[in-house]
Amino acid sequence: MSVFASQRPDVATSEVVKATLDWASLPFGYQKTDYNLRYTWRDGAWDDGVLTSDEIIPLHIAATCLHYGQECFEGLKAFETRRGDVVVFRMDENAQRMVRSCRKILMEPVPEPMFIDAVERIINANRRFVPPYGSGASLYIRPLVIGTGPQIGVRPASEYMFIVLVTPVGPYFKTGFTPVDLVVEEDVDRAAPLGVGDVKVGGNYAAGIRASVAAKKRGFSEVLYLDAKEKRFIDESGPANFFGVTKDGQYVTPASPSVLPSITNKSLLTLAKEMGMRPVQRSIGVEELFDFVEAGCCGTAAVITPVASITHRERKVVYAKDGRAGPLTTQLYQQLRAIQVGDVPDPHGWVRLVPTPHE
Ligand SMILES: *Cc1c(COP(=O)(O)O)cnc(C)c1O
Repeated sequence: MSVFASQRPDVATSEVVKATLDWASLPFGYQKTDYNLRYTWRDGAWDDGVLTSDEIIPLHIAATCLHYGQECFEGLKAFETRRGDVVVFRMDENAQRMVRSCRKILMEPVPEPMFIDAVERIINANRRFVPPYGSGASLYIRPLVIGTGPQIGVRPASEYMFIVLVTPVGPYFKTGFTPVDLVVEEDVDRAAPLGVGDVKVGGNYAAGIRASVAAKKRGFSEVLYLDAKEKRFIDESGPANFFGVTKDGQYVTPASPSVLPSITNKSLLTLAKEMGMRPVQRSIGVEELFDFVEAGCCGTAAVITPVASITHRERKVVYAKDGRAGPLTTQLYQQLRAIQVGDVPDPHGWVRLVPTPHE
């Protein structure tokens, strides 16, 4: 185990020799990198954080994360630009969402400046794992907060840990930008309207994992959840938001209290507006799926994954008849990707340069 005190700069040089990896065919999976970063909240304050190459955490057997699900996480990506800079997409949004997640399940929030500093530190410490420009891959950053203090009665922990790990990744859905088949899930609810579906807590994934696994066994890539109360409206897919494109070229995406507010979707709403797609967030009845001409799943991991077809009971709607994404979905995808890697201007200030320690 090697533990390094939190002296700055975390790495001594900006001359980075890349790790030897097959960048173009990376899966969306965990791969060991050089460091992860850990902060502890104890006696009312966060410490300065420690970089370590140890992948194991020591944890109290009565920690609240183990018993009562006090856990939340984030997911964001860093990209290398054509110039060789490293940039991160909208991390202020991730920082703010993590504060909301922590507050909702009564965990100690990570202040936004600390979150941003942690993301920059962990990228710099693992700079050789940032996939090269043009590879299609990115460095996925996974911050998480867990209740580490012991409790056996149900109450919030008295100690917390904020961990940031990174791993270089390729596309979330194996197919990349190739359309996927979804199935409407009617037997399992991911999240309830007054539950915690609107925050990024691990418990929502535990609730849905059996639906996801069963759908994959049946040959689908993912499920599409319905609203838990009425079972009439589309919520979202397992790990991603959903959008449809209407016959007259409008971008529509569900408004629902049990959907996780996706930063990718928020960005697409902006881009769709700029492309003249008159975006709208509203309830989408299941029947409406049969009227869309294109559809997609969106999220940091999924980027935009076009939807080929959706099966609902005995019916199936096919959007990608020739196996290819529709024109508006493709245009949105290309514009989002171009902004993320710095190929086109970024009028909204979504992309932020990660300074190297000596700059
Ligand atoms: C993280 C997540 C998304 C995608 O959100 P982004 O901010 O775009 O990455 C969508 N749905 C769920 C349930 C999620 O956990």
